[in-house]
Amino acid sequence: MLVKNGLVVNEDGVRKADIRIEGELVRETGPSLYPGENEEVIDAGGKLIIPGGVDVHTHMDLDLGSVRATDDFYTGTVAAAFGGTTTIVDHMAFGPPGCSIRRQVEEYHRLAGGRAVVDYGFHGVFDHVDDNILSEIQELAVEGITSHKFYLTYGGKLSDREVMRLMDCAAGLNILLCVHAENDGAVEYLREKYRAEGKTSPIWHAKSRPAGAEAEAVSRMLYLAGMAGDAPVYIVHLSCKQSLEAIRGARARGQKRIFAETCPQYLLLDEARYLREDSLKYVMSPPLRPRENLEALWAGVNGGEIDAIATDHCPFFYYKEKQLGKNDFTKAPGGAPGVEARIPLMLREVAAGRMTAERLVTLCCANPARLFGLYPKKGVIAPGSDADLVIIDPDVKTAMTFERLHENTDYTPYEGLELTGYPVTTVSRGEVIVSDGRFTGLKGRGKFLRRSLPELSSRE
Ligand SMILES: [Zn+2]
Repeated sequence: MLVKNGLVVNEDGVRKADIRIEGELVRETGPSLYPGENEEVIDAGGKLIIPGGVDVHTHMDLDLGSVRATDDFYTGTVAAAFGGTTTIVDHMAFGPPGCSIRRQVEEYHRLAGGRAVVDYGFHGVFDHVDDNILSEIQELAVEGITSHKFYLTYGGKLSDREVMRLMDCAAGLNILLCVHAENDGAVEYLREKYRAEGKTSPIWHAKSRPAGAEAEAVSRMLYLAGMAGDAPVYIVHLSCKQSLEAIRGARARGQKRIFAETCPQYLLLDEARYLREDSLKYVMSPPLRPRENLEALWAGVNGGEIDAIATDHCPFFYYKEKQLGKNDFTKAPGGAPGVEARIPLMLREVAAGRMTAERLVTLCCANPARLFGLYPKKGVIAPGSDADLVIIDPDVKTAMTFERLHENTDYTPYEGLELTGYPVTTVSRGEVIVSDGRFTGLKGRGKFLRRSLPELSSRE
């Protein structure tokens, strides 16, 4: 297949180039390639072409016990494909208390296998640290699971002692540790206090998880990582200015293996959403923040302090699961959809001059691929890389609305935002899986990605 006349965007620049695909890989790129016999030609004149998006924070089919995230690996990856994302790395749910990582890995192979339509990997998760977990981390790296997540709040949280032991181990193995950082004691105390005072509407969800609770936990993790010999740490869904300051501080102390992710919701939406009638739609952790944080995060995105933009995609129906929190915010399942909206929302920001197209590719494609052991297979358009391409019509003007999306839910947090530019064709490993508004791939065509060790040298 030959994709002709497009403007190819990689993180190092935008060039007019043709792309020749052979089988599942990019064979060559160049200014004027000629089609061979029987070669299919896609004319991308006037279009941008970016590497397939890599979303390293999704929760497909997440089992929370009483409710389950409403996108499974089929519906969620179809939505991803429509939105220009051709790779996901999913954060697994906790299994029964005290279970092994492998139990969940096997469960997730069952959930994703035969369903996913784009390529996928898993981050491990665990609720305790012992000899067994540490040896599993080592074994699973060989099987392509080279990152794990732990929580500092919720039922499965780790103690600082456990974190220290884990980081000490991960530092030697170059395993990347993803951290959900919120101070559990502060959050639990505030939730109970507000509930007791009858403050049960969603704004109190935000007030009970203040920026300080996040920044304290981020800062503590970074100090522990420093004490563990510069253990590699990746802060998921960083949402506020104070956390970014903690990151800056650790880097200034000489820690070179600290990485940060934010999400479109923290860049585009603010705490005022909790004062709306439909405020339950925005119950997520961390919560949306006061406006001044958004500017700080954008500066982090453009200044290179934030390494990746992922989504924390974890959808529920507003008129169903979210209503559990109608009379008490603590009963609402936390999470919101985003896997399909991410690239279109960032294209909007490119059109508005808030970020460059190259930076979009760095944060949404190349860096996540590097950090999670997928580069240069994913995250770049270059000879030898997987032919994962997203063709974008930069002139499309439309509004974000849940009706145009394919996520299995009844709303999008971004309803009504004006968009400029939208993915029109998605190619995954040489196969056109979305074109002209239709999904043309097969259920289950996505492949499990055996990820390499992360590339952690980008800051050295
Ligand atoms: Zn998450």
